[in-house]
Amino acid sequence: MSYPVHGDQTVFLVLSGPSGAGKSTLISSFLRRRPEFVRCISVTTRQPRPGERHGIDYFFTTTDEFNRMVLDGAFLEHAQVFGQHSYGTPRSFVAENFAAGRSVIKDVDVQGAIQIRRSFPTAVQVFVVPPSREEIERRLRTRATEGEEAIRRRLSEAQLELMQWAEYDYLVYNGDLEVAVDDVAAVVRAEQLKAPGRGTHRV
Ligand code: ADP
Ligand code: 5GP
Repeated sequence: MSYPVHGDQTVFLVLSGPSGAGKSTLISSFLRRRPEFVRCISVTTRQPRPGERHGIDYFFTTTDEFNRMVLDGAFLEHAQVFGQHSYGTPRSFVAENFAAGRSVIKDVDVQGAIQIRRSFPTAVQVFVVPPSREEIERRLRTRATEGEEAIRRRLSEAQLELMQWAEYDYLVYNGDLEVAVDDVAAVVRAEQLKAPGRGTHRV
């Protein structure tokens, strides 16, 4: 008799939601708790911010190289975010980690999440819900990584992005960070406990 292996399903967990909702912060806190997860490193055409490192925070590249990768089918999804820079999820990064039995977590903008629904239907999609528009604004200003115009743009996009929540598998409200991390961990645990065959991933 073959005996089912318990609770070890690999998971591709995608966190999406408006800029400033707290996706990156949630992922960092989750990884401190679950270091066996791998954070997927995206490819981007934007410039590194002070302290960001190539191959750690992003793979920074040129627009030409990015476009070449698009033509080569190198991305699970890619999008131009806030009409500025391009970002893409490298297919090989996810495939190699899955092949090694490692679960992967990443954040994408809302357009990227829509594409992943098609290119990777077994990905688990979490929408990170910010407490309010005012709190998003407060968080973006506290983060201080964008200027006034970029903040305005992110806030206006947030209105549209918030309307997409019904497309997701789970909603995680990011008010108190520790509660939100507990909720992400609960989603992951539920997915890992799925009977094999219900969450078999192919990249
Ligand atoms: P996103 O990745 O969704 O754009 P970040 O993770 O960069 O958002 O968070 C935006 C800002 O909000 C950061 O300054 C972060 O420290 C802060 N932040 C994130 N989550 C919380 C929270 N639960 N409570 C208060 N501040 C938060
Ligand atoms: P930032 O430039 O602040 O690091 O990221 C800007 C936005 O790009 C965030 O909303 C983030 O979720 C999104 N993003 C980061 N990596 C990817 C990716 O690989 N694909 C898509 N579609 N969006 C991404």
